[in-house]
Amino acid sequence: MTANPTAPILNLASDNVSGMSQPVLAALIAANAGPEPAYGTDQWTGKAEALLSTIFEHEVSVFLVATGTGANALALAAMSPPWGAIFCHSEAHVLDDECGAPEMFTDGAKLVGVPGVGGKLTVAALAPVVEHFTPGVIKSVQPAALSISQVTEAGTIYTLDEIRALGQFGQQHKLMFHLDGARFGNAMVSLGCTPAEMTWKAGVDVVTFGATKNGCMACEAIIFFNKAHAEAMPYRRKRGGHTVSKGRLLGAQMVGYLENDHWIDNARHANAMATALTEGLKTIAKVKLPWLTQANEVFVVVPKTASARLAQAHIRAAPWGSTSLPEGFSIGQDEQFLRFVTSFTTTRQDIETVLQTIAG
Ligand SMILES: *Cc1c(COP(=O)(O)O)cnc(C)c1O
Repeated sequence: MTANPTAPILNLASDNVSGMSQPVLAALIAANAGPEPAYGTDQWTGKAEALLSTIFEHEVSVFLVATGTGANALALAAMSPPWGAIFCHSEAHVLDDECGAPEMFTDGAKLVGVPGVGGKLTVAALAPVVEHFTPGVIKSVQPAALSISQVTEAGTIYTLDEIRALGQFGQQHKLMFHLDGARFGNAMVSLGCTPAEMTWKAGVDVVTFGATKNGCMACEAIIFFNKAHAEAMPYRRKRGGHTVSKGRLLGAQMVGYLENDHWIDNARHANAMATALTEGLKTIAKVKLPWLTQANEVFVVVPKTASARLAQAHIRAAPWGSTSLPEGFSIGQDEQFLRFVTSFTTTRQDIETVLQTIAG
């Protein structure tokens, strides 16, 4: 096969531009041999479930699916009735990037976006919005769930205190608490905490535990900390077309991902590359960073001359836009807002190349 001449030489537009990491691929190859029971009743899925219970220090109910959108939409469907309101950030993936899947899988629940700087929800911003919907009033959708993304859509991270505060607020208002962990590993290593601390110990009820972006082919886990909340999920997942018949191939990915702390190594590497990129960017004149880099995503405003140089060098970043910029932070006509996402495949040389190209 010859290389595609129009393909970017370096693609940092997202972390899903990478394929699988080696241990995940090796686990898939191992699971490929011989027959296995279907629909997730195989030994690989069983092992993935056991590993997740160990990692989360909690007996968990696990449902593996192939996409993050499917995981989020099914999770929210288990958390809200069709007449429920689900509160999330106004730029949340569930609201902005899933083509209405949460609304479809919940049979019509209302997603309510709440603004906040740096992609983050605060209790102060949330309270008046939630309180606008009155429990027991039949003209109003009923407050049902709260959903946060960790890492957020702005690459920022909720502290444990912030998650706990949202959890407490949720409990006071009888909201189920969902954490969209498409980049769970990146957030966890950044905080230096345990999976338990970032979730059930802080009041989270349901997690979508992402594995695809950080090393798998297509595998995400919906994780329930209370078995009762998961009772209908086998039917919901099947009915939603997300029960994979050769389920062992999902289980094997998750096993390869979790064993030997491979997922943590991948996340650490990705975060370190983003930190290196950020440190380099800070030394270049006329480059502005709207938010702190806390995980594996770097948001940066560069002169259009620099973004033109990147394009010419076939280096891809994602052109970005956001309404959650810090107050007073503006983007000029001659500037371009970009998102760079690093992954387990990003090298120091890649970072050097990007920095040299931006510096010009
Ligand atoms: C990538 C991502 C997802 C999952 O998206 P899919 O493309 O459906 O796998 C979910 N939430 C967030 C915040 C993401 O960045």
